[in-house]
Amino acid sequence: MGLRRLGVIGWPVEHSRSPAMHNAALAVTGLDGEFAYERVAVAPDALAATLGELATAGFAGVNVTIPHKEEALALAGDASPAARAIGAANTLTFGVEGAIRADNTDAPGLLDALGEPVPRSAMILGAGGSARAAAHALRSTGAAVAVWNRSPERARRLAVDLGVAAVDGPVGADVLVNCTSVGLHDPAETFKSLPLTTDDLGRYACVVDLVYRDGGTELLRQAEQRGCRCVDGLEILVRQGARSFQIWTGRPAPLDVMRRAARSEHSHPQLPESPPGRRDGPAGA
Ligand code: NDP
Repeated sequence: MGLRRLGVIGWPVEHSRSPAMHNAALAVTGLDGEFAYERVAVAPDALAATLGELATAGFAGVNVTIPHKEEALALAGDASPAARAIGAANTLTFGVEGAIRADNTDAPGLLDALGEPVPRSAMILGAGGSARAAAHALRSTGAAVAVWNRSPERARRLAVDLGVAAVDGPVGADVLVNCTSVGLHDPAETFKSLPLTTDDLGRYACVVDLVYRDGGTELLRQAEQRGCRCVDGLEILVRQGARSFQIWTGRPAPLDVMRRAARSEHSHPQLPESPPGRRDGPAGA
């Protein structure tokens, strides 16, 4: 069989770290002769037409990012219960005769990134696609979940759909999860745009920021100073990617290799490459 193609579809997609991460994982597991992962720019109105073409062009699966996650779910013939409940898919797998299966690995990826102890309560900021995945994931563990959003109506809708509570302002919890895009472009905006002071961060044992940027985010910088356990957006990216890798290849993902590839591409160009011959085995193996 020829090389099977994998990729990430989005708009824009040129800054995605997924190709570096997945191709590093394919190389270290010896699957680079079977699969190759690439960027596929798909304009907002072109998803339906493109998905049919991808299946016939030799794609085995794709990750889906902004702005296609909701439509990707709608276009798939089959979907996991989690993707359906969340209302969005970030992983598509192409079967025989163009059949498309939709999964959402953002949700279990968040739980993988959080690890132990599993939080008993969570405060989510935001009510977009990633907040829906986070709410579904945390709710599935039995945690009490509260959601705040700048536009309260959207938080209320999320709360009804996913069986969590919408709140007017953040409440204390085991974990705070930022699922807004605040902090992405201007760190100085973080504590102006979010309904939190830096001192409020002391109410959370753990702080997760889905946003990632070179140099880190202001939210995590402040959380770290207050002694919170911190999980950054790159770890979230790695964990959802690891789940997608396993769906497509049937192999456990080499987490350390994926982490290194995701972190090294832009953020630390001064770091030397790992020594040749040093290879991480698959996680858990
Ligand atoms: P959406 O566009 O679906 O949602 C954006 C959210 O951000 C909404 O809740 C929106 O509120 C809120 N928001 C935007 N600007 C402001 C502001 N100035 N003040 C307060 N709230 C604001 O995006 P996603 O849920 O898909 O993604 C959110 C962010 O998470 C992305 O920007 C990305 O940085 C990050 N992300 C990271 C991933 C990773 O792997 N690390 C994966 C997915 C996302 P409102 O409803 O009021 O507009």
